[in-house]
Amino acid sequence: MSAVKSVTRQVFDDVMVPNYNPAQFIPVRGEGTRVWDQEGREYIDFAGGIAVSCLGHCHPAMVHALSEQSKKLWHLSNVLTNEPALRLAQKLVDATFADKVYYANSGAEANEAALKLARRWALDVHGEHKHQIIAFHKGFHGRTFFTVTVGGQPAYSDGFGPKPGGVHHVEFNNLESLAAVMSEQTCAVMIEPLQGEGGVVPGEEAFLKGVRDLCDKHNALLIFDEVQTGFGRTGTLYAYEQTGVTPDILTSAKALGGGFPIGAMLTTAAIADHLKPGTHGSTYGGNPLACAVAEAVMDVVNTPEVLEGVKQREQWFREALNAINEKHHVFSEVRGRGLLLGAALNDKYKGKARDFLNAAAEEGLMILIAGADVLRFTPSLIISDTDIQQGMARLEKAIERVIAAHG
Ligand SMILES: *Cc1c(COP(=O)(O)O)cnc(C)c1O
Repeated sequence: MSAVKSVTRQVFDDVMVPNYNPAQFIPVRGEGTRVWDQEGREYIDFAGGIAVSCLGHCHPAMVHALSEQSKKLWHLSNVLTNEPALRLAQKLVDATFADKVYYANSGAEANEAALKLARRWALDVHGEHKHQIIAFHKGFHGRTFFTVTVGGQPAYSDGFGPKPGGVHHVEFNNLESLAAVMSEQTCAVMIEPLQGEGGVVPGEEAFLKGVRDLCDKHNALLIFDEVQTGFGRTGTLYAYEQTGVTPDILTSAKALGGGFPIGAMLTTAAIADHLKPGTHGSTYGGNPLACAVAEAVMDVVNTPEVLEGVKQREQWFREALNAINEKHHVFSEVRGRGLLLGAALNDKYKGKARDFLNAAAEEGLMILIAGADVLRFTPSLIISDTDIQQGMARLEKAIERVIAAHG
């Protein structure tokens, strides 16, 4: 018998490693864009589990795919392949620049595979000198030691001893700063086409084109981390489609599984060739349950209705946020693309993003922050107009609360 009679938030503090600081309420059920906690309180979900729950909670297509697959086959390992993995890979290849797919279980793992592939490609094709990885300040690529080192927030990678070497950081949206460090030693440039965690900052079109040109000039690979921007989030299946730039390697996770853990790395046949049997792997990567769910998600997301709908919903979000701001003057800017939107707090409220998040929770609204100065919204891609309007009414109340507290 378990010693735990009823689980409360206190149990987190008692038995969980303290690397997270979750909200005081514990959600127990979700449907669409609504979530209910242990007390039966209802929340509107503008967070989407950090850009993951792209079809909301318990979407029938996902429930169906998961329950059907759960009666057939759960796991094999990569000693064998499976039908859902192959069907999903075929669909990803058909829908993108890529010829080949590697499966992982998370965004960090997809990026880890991308970085290892780039290093191996450079070694095979050009030699040992070509090992430099360039990435951007405030970029985020996951929490494994290699990916967190490539990420541009030293606060996340410091304090764990010697870091993987050969990693350089330059300024986002500043082509000269990249050009200054690129050379024949550059193996790859890793970039988010729109920085998510770093404050919801879109890469400018000319900048992204320039990054592509510099990679071509120096025979370096361009890796697009689309873990947050991918799978419909910005109004196309992947954000690169809107940039006029095609990467050599693309990573996907988060919304790819709609809430079931899965990651994928996509690349061309010529580059993929360098991950020969035995060079890299994962026990769970391509797990049948994960792939069956992701395939169902893709069948819904990769349709004109949903992708066009994202652009419509972006408009509704922007209009509502601008209307709130005209009344209360808390944002300096609303930015982002599709349903990856950031409302940057103006000077008066800089550093207080968490106060807004907490006030929103008290009003029955789940939102995200991106750093201390930006409120972030990454809801379901099929959130209804009604849920947006009601959620925005709660956000306005939360903002009034913060204003009342801070003057
Ligand atoms: C969330 C995120 C990751 C890490 O994904 P995990 O599944 O948490 O490992 C990597 N890159 C970007 C851009 C992300 O937003």
